[in-house]
Amino acid sequence: MLIVKKFGGTSVANPERVMNVARRCIEDYNKGNDVVVVLSAMDQTTDELIDLAHQVNKKPPKRELDMLMTTGEQVSVAMMAMAMDALGVRAVSLNAFQVRMITTSSYGNARLKRIEKERIRHELDDRKIVIVTGFQGVNKYDDITTLGRGGSDTTAVAIAAALHADACEIYTDVDGVYTADPRICPGARKMKEITYDEMLDLASLGAGVLHNRSVEMAKKYGVTLVVRSSLNNSEGTVLKEETNVERMLISGVALDKSADRISIIGLKNEPGVAFRVFDVLAKANINIDVILQSIGRDGTKDISFTCPDGDADDAIKALEANQGRLHFKSLDINRDVAKLSIVGAGMMTNPGVAAKMFEALYNEDININMISTSEIRVTVLIDEKDGTRAVNAVHDAFGLSE
Ligand code: ADP
Ligand code: ASP
Ligand code: MG
Repeated sequence: MLIVKKFGGTSVANPERVMNVARRCIEDYNKGNDVVVVLSAMDQTTDELIDLAHQVNKKPPKRELDMLMTTGEQVSVAMMAMAMDALGVRAVSLNAFQVRMITTSSYGNARLKRIEKERIRHELDDRKIVIVTGFQGVNKYDDITTLGRGGSDTTAVAIAAALHADACEIYTDVDGVYTADPRICPGARKMKEITYDEMLDLASLGAGVLHNRSVEMAKKYGVTLVVRSSLNNSEGTVLKEETNVERMLISGVALDKSADRISIIGLKNEPGVAFRVFDVLAKANINIDVILQSIGRDGTKDISFTCPDGDADDAIKALEANQGRLHFKSLDINRDVAKLSIVGAGMMTNPGVAAKMFEALYNEDININMISTSEIRVTVLIDEKDGTRAVNAVHDAFGLSE
């Protein structure tokens, strides 16, 4: 069997954990399997590197930030190869350049396009455990790129797909995918199985346990993914196309604290305004999420939208630069907001799901600022300070707790 095993930052946070992971991988290797290990940076290294960059430049060039951040993963893979060597097993560490993991050119948020298999295959054929840096790639300029925060999951799935691996295991610091983040929702229940689609929604809406592109890629290439703990042997959660588990009304609750809300006040109430506003934002490369437009009054209207917190400053700059053309009175920004979402295919056929969510929030006296829905999700914008309380209230209201 060819097994791809990915370990996140907390799983390799210190030398003891590195040794622990090394032993776990060697167990599989000793059974005669080919083993590829994908690693994240140790513990909080990536955050620390970003912080370091900001000490010399408030807006570091993205190319240089990628160059800096990717050193974290390089430390991990070298440490792991040394740990395995100490345990008497042949291992080799490889970075994105050595493997040739080719991405699009955009720094900070690149997409994997192609992974060359030769080097990994060659090392596996030589009976080595191959340890690969997660999160990083190489673009057409031979520059180092990163795949976005949490991107090591995507590296692992992409390697599993490229090599037609028999298994792809994502090891993390919780026992699997839960109905809500178990760190803020003590009643959260571990799911035995979840469909790619539901996981994709949960991941895109803030359930940071998996990088959303890893789920997208697993679905596309039919990679069966397992999410489990690196600290114990419990079973974990299997992601697949269809599950046999009886469908609940909703499958999970997600909270995303990384959103900012921007309101454009006093726009003219006439055709073409929304187009001009979002055209300006699109040209500035701002990722827009929830949008709310007020009904016009006295010839004016307001438009509010959310965007990732990293985009808010650029959004404001772009809007202010076009104030004359867009004819608005003022901008209002709130950085202390959070998006709370419920996800589940069950809601398609059950009216009243949104009402139930709103009732749960009302009972907790939590105010809703914006609402957006799709067939299988409802998202509301709330104050960040209410986030944990809101997750628990909604989770309880849908009977998701054990
Ligand atoms: P890693 O470093 O292993 O990649 P992450 O921090 O990226 O770990 O992801 C694991 C974390 O995801 C957990 O510690 C947990 O707090 C968070 N999380 C958020 N939502 C969920 C969920 N629905 N199920 C499990 N974990 C979740
Ligand atoms: N080390 C990177 C991050 O912190 C990638 C990852 O953990 O998946 O975002
Ligand atoms: Mg992660």
